Amino acid sequence: MIEIVPYNDDITCIKTATEQDGQAIMFVYSYLIRDTLFDAGCGNAISKFQEFVSTREINHVYISHSHEDHVGCLHIFDGKAKIYANKMTEQALREPQTIGEFFDFVWGQPKPVSEITTMPSTFSIGDLSFEVIPLPGHAADMVGYYEPDKRWFFSFDAVPLPSKKKIAMPEENIPQMVATMKKIRDMDIEILFDSHKGPIDNPREHIQLRIDYINMIEKEARVLHEDGKSIEEIQDVLGLDGPWYLEMTKDRFGIDFFLKSLLFDKVEP
Ligand SMILES: [Zn+2]
Repeated sequence: MIEIVPYNDDITCIKTATEQDGQAIMFVYSYLIRDTLFDAGCGNAISKFQEFVSTREINHVYISHSHEDHVGCLHIFDGKAKIYANKMTEQALREPQTIGEFFDFVWGQPKPVSEITTMPSTFSIGDLSFEVIPLPGHAADMVGYYEPDKRWFFSFDAVPLPSKKKIAMPEENIPQMVATMKKIRDMDIEILFDSHKGPIDNPREHIQLRIDYINMIEKEARVLHEDGKSIEEIQDVLGLDGPWYLEMTKDRFGIDFFLKSLLFDKVEP
């Protein structure tokens, strides 16, 4: 399913999701700014997505990172619009990973894309000027876009959707994610454009709430770890429960991955 939500004269939110019983399982946002698209949505919504973009002239597509909910409809632009991605993302777009049954149901398996241009460090859309900002943590290759005059920041998945993040993928680096969140928090931003929450008009409080929770869990987990407790025991003592779908992710997400990363991963300088 698709919902088109104009945000202002420049930005249109394109919300896509797999539909179940008339409801979105989970929306992901792509953003359309004039002839430029930021990310390319949920693959299971491709017919609706294609229908919408056929009414617009899209010449540029900037990809934040290669997760399937951001690139599901990207292949329809292959050779038709200029697709930008950094080197690491580019490789994953050329040869997408097989995502497994649950994620195929929730988002859809991305198809390979071949014509990709290297992400520049800055770009313009008309009179809007964007800086490309690395946002490691959630994904090592993720980037965001900052428009300093408008004070817009497109942060994609840099800030976790739940205020109490407690599951992670093994490749996520939680201390790095916190460092990235602090970097965004301290920038001069009026509106944060998130990939699952949409535009956020109180970015500082929104980010701080998430940092505070992770810091609190980190402190508690470290005391237990120094006391000789295992990851499993720490999870029990802290009473950390996963969401209902956690088992269906077949170990792509886990509370143990979150705790291990929190305790042992380091922030890259
Ligand atoms: Zn992601």
